[in-house]
Amino acid sequence: MGKDATRTDHWRELDRAHHIHSFTDPKVILDQGARIIARGDGVYVWDSDDRKILDGMAGLWCVNVGYGRKELINAASRQLDTLAYYNNHFQSATPAQIELGEKLATLTPAGLDHFAFANSGSEANDTVIRLVRRYWALKGAPTKRVIIGRRLGYHGSTLAASSMGGMAPMHAMDHELLPDFVHVDCPHWYTEGGALDLEAFGLKAAQSLEDKILELGADKVAAFIGEPIQGAGGVIEPPPNYWHAIERICRKHDVLLIADEVICGFGRTGEWFGTNLYQINPDVMVMAKGLSSGYVPIAAVAFNREIFGTIAKGGTLPHGYTYSGHPVSCAVALANLGVIERESLVDRVREDVGPYLHACLNQTVAAHPLVGEIRGVGLMRGVQITAEKSSRALFPAEREASIRCREHAYAGGLIVRAIGQAMVLSPALTITRQEINELVSKLVAALDATAADLGVA
Ligand code: PMP
Repeated sequence: MGKDATRTDHWRELDRAHHIHSFTDPKVILDQGARIIARGDGVYVWDSDDRKILDGMAGLWCVNVGYGRKELINAASRQLDTLAYYNNHFQSATPAQIELGEKLATLTPAGLDHFAFANSGSEANDTVIRLVRRYWALKGAPTKRVIIGRRLGYHGSTLAASSMGGMAPMHAMDHELLPDFVHVDCPHWYTEGGALDLEAFGLKAAQSLEDKILELGADKVAAFIGEPIQGAGGVIEPPPNYWHAIERICRKHDVLLIADEVICGFGRTGEWFGTNLYQINPDVMVMAKGLSSGYVPIAAVAFNREIFGTIAKGGTLPHGYTYSGHPVSCAVALANLGVIERESLVDRVREDVGPYLHACLNQTVAAHPLVGEIRGVGLMRGVQITAEKSSRALFPAEREASIRCREHAYAGGLIVRAIGQAMVLSPALTITRQEINELVSKLVAALDATAADLGVA
């Protein structure tokens, strides 16, 4: 480290030298260096220059109970002390993992009470693909292999999970999808709805699933997967009639319904799970992120009794990870669920801070000349940027409207995410009204600065 170089300069230099960043243009790292986040407390993080920043994204939609919670830290420490590691292969289990399964069964919808553990949403979704196909094979329907996802759906970054998701740049990287993954319409009225009203559009988007099943033949289709509200697609809240129509179509054609609750789960929407919002009954549910509030990696997949019962008759299951049900992760997840329950965080999101954030956004952000729509539920919100409110036209991508806004927000001490042309918010469920006021006023300042850049009055 040179004489005048700061600690941040030093870290940036080492980071440039050795680290391959996720979802980042390497040129930005070379030119500007990484943003080094050094510590966290509550809804705030501090960078390596000790600048305090309000984390409006709870990390990556995951730090639901906020940073620095002693309950979780102590649970990890106790478990490390007692049994730092053991696996769940070859007939083994650990108390923490057993207790987490029992706890999750009290939270998930009735019947979804068998859990396979993994370490990330992506891995959990790979587990889903393998077990769902095994289920159909054991049922005597081995041709039922295709999994139908949606455009702009996100299910992870492994080879299989990225094929299951509907993100075009991820598909382009591998040149082609893995076989037996297809995608249907994304139920986003703002960009796809045209002149249709919400209800007609909801039915049309759901119909694209039935059309695809009929095109492929139901004997080829294993499952449909969707996030109750699409997160990484830009907080896409489907029309109210959409999920019921999807469920009806899945049942009619004997296609399993998989809910990817990786973002929506554990209170973010003001319900324990996003599927509770729409009152649908998935056969399989995928969980990660908020399960441990991101303190340690853990994911789980809930299978219903019919699927588990079938798989249970199939002999040794050739699937699992070294760290499936890692005892430290399970202990932290249990402590995390304890905090969510004791502090009634799910009710708090539904009845207090969720509606408060919505009201603040509607009162102070919706009228902004750049804003076309405020959407989302609970503490999962999207602010659509538009070039023209009446026609819902977007800015040309090269004007980088949302990226500019994100950068202005960061400079002003707020982390928000730019997805497509939407600003996305997903703060910790513990955020206070006062912190919401700060978040919203910083967002308005960033939108003002973006409007000035773009020459919008
Ligand atoms: N599913 C959904 C809905 C997600 O949002 C994500 C991550 N953003 C994943 C799966 C993948 O999770 P991970 O990054 O932990 O692999």
